[in-house]
Amino acid sequence: MPLSMAKKRICPKCRSTDVSPDLSAESYGKGSMFNAYKCNKCGYRGEFFPEVDA
Ligand SMILES: [Zn+2]
Repeated sequence: MPLSMAKKRICPKCRSTDVSPDLSAESYGKGSMFNAYKCNKCGYRGEFFPEVDA
């Protein structure tokens, strides 16, 4: 059974899947541009966005 199934990141706050990588200058400054995500629905930004099976 393949383990590389499509995963979706969800917003921990509103559970929306409308999440995109946060490439803002703030994230660059923190050195976490590869880990930061932003919720396009509620605007929550952070590094902890759980992945769920699509
Ligand atoms: Zn959200």
